[in-house]
Amino acid sequence: METKLNLLKRLMRKQQQRDALKLAASWPQLGEHKERITRGWAAEVNPQLYTQMGQVPKELVEDGIRAVCERYRLCILCGCELEDKFGHNAQPLARGCCCEDCNILRVIPARWITNHVDRKGFWYG
Ligand SMILES: [Zn+2]
Repeated sequence: METKLNLLKRLMRKQQQRDALKLAASWPQLGEHKERITRGWAAEVNPQLYTQMGQVPKELVEDGIRAVCERYRLCILCGCELEDKFGHNAQPLARGCCCEDCNILRVIPARWITNHVDRKGFWYG
């Protein structure tokens, strides 16, 4: 039988981040990440409430997903488990840590494009 944690990791790998956030938000033992995870899920379920409070629900949901990744050491981009201690900065694709493969295949090219292509798509060296 699959453990809840393995289910969470599988959801993240399948890019079903909101399902993973929902699952994690139902767990009692979330330590220092509890508030961000449960608030992220609450913002997903009831975005109007957070909008009324002057917050941006989408950002709260993203922060909740990021907190899940931090707690369980998962790549913010592909959901795999981070092998090394720190991971890589996933900017500009996402805020949070990503794995070695995502860094090489997605983040570094994205940074290069960000630095060498203007908004109209012209390369300027
Ligand atoms: Zn990755």
